[in-house]
Amino acid sequence: MKKKIGFYIHIPFCHSKCSYCDFYSISDFSLELKKNYLDRLLKHIDYMGCRFSNDYKPNTLFIGGGTPSIYSAEELGALVKRVQKNFNCEFLESTVEINPNVIDYNFIDKLYKGNFFNRISFGLQSPFKKDNTYLGRNFNEKSVEILKYALSIFENVSIDMVCGYDGFNSEKIIEKLNLQGILPKIKHISLYMLKYSESFSEKFKEKICDDDIQVENYKKMINLIKKNNFKQYEISNFCKTNYECKHNLHYWKYHDYLGVGSNASIKFENNIVCFPKLNDYMMKDFEETIEDVENTEEYPDKIIMRMRLCEGMSFLELKKINPNLPDIMNILYNRYKDCFKKDFDKISFSQKGFIFSNTLLSSMLEIMEERK
Ligand code: SF4
Repeated sequence: MKKKIGFYIHIPFCHSKCSYCDFYSISDFSLELKKNYLDRLLKHIDYMGCRFSNDYKPNTLFIGGGTPSIYSAEELGALVKRVQKNFNCEFLESTVEINPNVIDYNFIDKLYKGNFFNRISFGLQSPFKKDNTYLGRNFNEKSVEILKYALSIFENVSIDMVCGYDGFNSEKIIEKLNLQGILPKIKHISLYMLKYSESFSEKFKEKICDDDIQVENYKKMINLIKKNNFKQYEISNFCKTNYECKHNLHYWKYHDYLGVGSNASIKFENNIVCFPKLNDYMMKDFEETIEDVENTEEYPDKIIMRMRLCEGMSFLELKKINPNLPDIMNILYNRYKDCFKKDFDKISFSQKGFIFSNTLLSSMLEIMEERK
């Protein structure tokens, strides 16, 4: 029986680099490179099909970036078709990320008519120009109207938002999204806290709020999102009933996943491979990149991913990973009770636990080391 997995396609190009962005993306590129990259992706998909289609059948697809909408709807459709052909598969969920500031109504129409995507993920960040300007993003006054248009034809639309910057006003953002009739129709929200990165400019580093204000921002926004009929199912993700992102659930449940693109990674049989950055990606032999495997020690990564979900983990599952883990989780629970929720056979993070999840998981690994 073939394993059901997610397939990811990475587009590394963006129109300009946003001040807060720590992702791998390139804004200075030629049209020729953009075209050659698409050809390279198609060849890479063929290679992945030859190498993996006997064992895997993708049931979700995600084209992310960068800015996938830098390509036309037809070009994006060609990528989807190529994965379907190589793996002989249909997708339960097929998502493309869109930057609403750089597309028009025509693009949305073509995406819809192409029938390759049943889920659109909009990088909105905020419906206000001043917030986008603050974040160093281009802002098109029509972006909210374009989002509304997409909502009138696509049934499953998600938006990305970012909080934790000076001037972030959760009430005003939610009020505007409601006044525009957007929030009742949106099925999914990803909310990220702005994280400090050394790669930010000095000027931008100064704009990031201190931790306490960030946490207050985040908590307030989460409460408002929940009041608008969304349930939290993951540390940064919220959805209406049955609209969890099926593709990302593959990652959080620590399933295998495949993909193509510069800096994209794949996981198969406990091996994780990260493909090279753009220049090498365009030249390196595909075979060579797969042989470059890194065998993962499964348990820390698996726990880190699984505990991101609100459902948490059962003690039985923890025990299967390592017999010491249920005890270690109980030690942490007794030390930091308000950071956890515990049923008799399950443990998960509370809202506070999510905020301090990195510290809590590091403590777990330290105790684990001491017991070795
Ligand atoms: S559009 Fe997205 S990926 Fe591109 S620079 Fe901005 S935040 Fe980063």
